[in-house]
Amino acid sequence: MRYVYYFGGGKADGQGSQKELLGGKGANLAEMVNLALPVPPGFTITTEVCSHFYKNNRSYPSDLKAEVEKALTRLETEMGAKFGDSKKPLLVSVRSGAPASMPGMMDTVLNLGLNDQTVQSLASGSGSERFAWDCYRRFVQMYGDVVLGLKPEKQEEDPFEVILSAKKKARNAKQDTELEAQDLKDLVIQFKEEIKRRTGKTFPQDPTEQLWGAIGAVFGSWENDRAKAYRRLNDIPNHWGTAVNVQSMVFGNLGDDCATGVAFTRDPSTGERRIFGEYLINAQGEDVVAGIRTPGPLSTAEKKNGSLPSLEEVMPEVYKQFVEVANKLEQHYRDMQDIEFTVQHRKLFLLQTRNGKRTARAAVKTAVDMVGEKIIDRPTAVQRVKPEQLEQLLHPTVDPLAKKNVIAKGLPASPGAAVGKVVFSADDAQDWVQRGEKVILVRAETSPEDIQGMHVSQGILTSRGGMTSHAAVVARGMGKCCVSGCDEIYINYASREFTTKSGIVIREGDVLTLDGSMGEVMKGAVPMVQPSLSGDFATFMEWVDEIRRIKVRTNADTPNDSVVARKFGAEGIGLCRTEHMFFEETRISAMREMILADTVEERRAALAKLLPMQREDFKGIFEAMHPYPVTIRLLDPPLHEFLPHTDAELEQLSLASGRPVSKLRKRRDELHEANPMLGFRGCRLAILYPEIAEMQTRAVLEAVCQLTKEKNRTIVPEIMIPLVAEVTELSIIKERIIEVARQVNREYKTKVKFLVGTMIELPRAALTAAEIAKEAEFFSFGTNDLTQMTFGLSRDDAGRFLPQYVSQHLFAKDPFMVLDQKGVGRLIEIAVHDGRQVRGDLKVGICGEHGGEPSSVKFCHRQGFDYVSCSPYRVPVARLAAAQAVLEEKQR
Ligand code: PEP
Ligand code: MG
Repeated sequence: MRYVYYFGGGKADGQGSQKELLGGKGANLAEMVNLALPVPPGFTITTEVCSHFYKNNRSYPSDLKAEVEKALTRLETEMGAKFGDSKKPLLVSVRSGAPASMPGMMDTVLNLGLNDQTVQSLASGSGSERFAWDCYRRFVQMYGDVVLGLKPEKQEEDPFEVILSAKKKARNAKQDTELEAQDLKDLVIQFKEEIKRRTGKTFPQDPTEQLWGAIGAVFGSWENDRAKAYRRLNDIPNHWGTAVNVQSMVFGNLGDDCATGVAFTRDPSTGERRIFGEYLINAQGEDVVAGIRTPGPLSTAEKKNGSLPSLEEVMPEVYKQFVEVANKLEQHYRDMQDIEFTVQHRKLFLLQTRNGKRTARAAVKTAVDMVGEKIIDRPTAVQRVKPEQLEQLLHPTVDPLAKKNVIAKGLPASPGAAVGKVVFSADDAQDWVQRGEKVILVRAETSPEDIQGMHVSQGILTSRGGMTSHAAVVARGMGKCCVSGCDEIYINYASREFTTKSGIVIREGDVLTLDGSMGEVMKGAVPMVQPSLSGDFATFMEWVDEIRRIKVRTNADTPNDSVVARKFGAEGIGLCRTEHMFFEETRISAMREMILADTVEERRAALAKLLPMQREDFKGIFEAMHPYPVTIRLLDPPLHEFLPHTDAELEQLSLASGRPVSKLRKRRDELHEANPMLGFRGCRLAILYPEIAEMQTRAVLEAVCQLTKEKNRTIVPEIMIPLVAEVTELSIIKERIIEVARQVNREYKTKVKFLVGTMIELPRAALTAAEIAKEAEFFSFGTNDLTQMTFGLSRDDAGRFLPQYVSQHLFAKDPFMVLDQKGVGRLIEIAVHDGRQVRGDLKVGICGEHGGEPSSVKFCHRQGFDYVSCSPYRVPVARLAAAQAVLEEKQR
């Protein structure tokens, strides 16, 4: 087996298609070398070495050493430089690169090969002592941190930064660049001492030892906490591992004819076609991303008031070459690229290219535009957008007409809007959110450690860093609103507050609104508006609908929800939970009367009050959904949910109903259950209190008759019985429904059509589907309950420990969010198969939460479902997932 792949000298051992083996970065470096683009030569150590490393107690395959030595010799020859050489020392970077991009999550070491001797040669070779010592200073710092494990204690500032700040203060310097060679020499000594003092380890002088140390650290960083968290959030499997790239250094910090930058071939926020990016003169790559200095724009067109000169102005030739290279890369990869580059003495080098992360808006626009530009076809375009990302486009933005109190402005780093209470650390963000608060995370800058805190925040505000800073890139990937580089605020972490330029003080817990499309920071909660669903979005969704086969319905209980869902493309209602209609102020008392009734007559009298209200509800919903189908579920929840909980409320009810409090309390206690979700609910209610089901059926059918009469509508309602375990339950209730239909037909002198079906929510129902299908005209999988019952996990209480199960990988995913295809899915498979054996035209759908989750929708497609049903905002997500399921099927 081969472990090391060389790239350079106009040819690479590897290819762009070998992402799994070489990692994304390694594969793309190989590809760029093969495309004859200017890439500093180097070699990639494969992800297989990473797997070996973890399987064998952090040791390497026996052949690796020889292969690395061989590649190193080849690199030395190509560069005309040697590791540790006193005249021309070879310097390399050692960087991670996993098969899927994990920006900033793993470790990197730059300037490796420097020591007390080679720093002198670098100084004489480059003609700049300051430059050489700056490189050495950075290297010792990175090596100390990444390889030798010098980490700040919790709550402590990075010890290297403390030393650096003290030096700057002593020298009266604002920026690192103002320090002189002698200062940097002092820093190197101090850094080495600090490493020794804190870790007991000596900074190694031997470049080969340095190299192996760095390789081990980069492989080791695959398992650091932030990398693990990122993988969990982005569905990247743990067993993939990272590759390690060793690449000869080029320098963007050799003087004012040098630069470093990051660029996207299209605007990653809007998708607009233009080179978009930032650069810094006389700097190393990390400086742009870390947001320590505020960078300038690449193109002159991007310049805003007060921004630095563009690269186009400063180095027009280099800019021109860069644009050509960027176009070539985009054409080659047929996707928007995110490129890192360095300019060394006006010579352009590419350090990395990858498919750029983008907002949902940019993803849709880029996909639609690239079809127009004939770069990709429609099916490819449909696969370019992540279904879960689409939801971003449906959420509101700040109302342009609203009165707003803008207290500061920063960069529009990631679009959308967010309202929340201010917190100043990622840990606080997590704590507050756990307490049920919505928060805005405010930081000077963010780092990969903050990823969990960013994930739970509504939006992110940073006082430093550009459009490609960590905060900006990560927020865009998450679809979170972000304002970065807002240097008009001064943050005081100690007192948990920030002050704006004009002196306004915002404290922890104060409410802020962020507008990530404008870069505005507003005091208080500003009103929002609904997004537009026309233009590129509409075009894109048309292509989606051309491809998909299964229908997408919505879960909705009101005409208003139905209207919203139709705007998002819903093709019917898969679940109307009728109980939601009984909680309204005017109805709850009739509902309670019904529950408290001592006799059937009393119960019927109370139900008679509810009948007209329920009928009007159904008329409204049928109208809003016409001509699409509507599934109405008979009452499901345990009755105690409708009774008052406190004594004060009981007293009020006593007054209203004329029943003594003691009697009410007795009834409440009778209805109390230890496990209500396993108790007197679902079809069991209709078995014991058939009057309820009769009233609801009557309301449905009368609504149909009246609409037929008034508006000449043809409506075939689907009446759905919840929580059936035994077919007899269904047949008894079905008979009642048919009897009510007979009565209604007589009264209205008509013949209403309707379907009677059931939810499959219990394992027994799934396993006896063949019997149930004899009675049921449709199945709708209630996967919330089916998951609960299959796992023996309470929907109400599992939150206490389920997150730990997921974080410890006991469960790959929370099964209430992502359908468990192995277990719950197996029950579904059996039920669909057995049900359709008995009734060939059995209609099958899903209405649990999973109906809007992409991987679950794809599963339903593969099982031959007729439709999925989900909450209104997830309808477009489900439509896209359903189309992608068709395309994935073809690729198999
Ligand atoms: C289900 O159980 O999946 C379902 C849709 O019903 P509910 O969530 O109302 O119990
Ligand atoms: Mg249910």
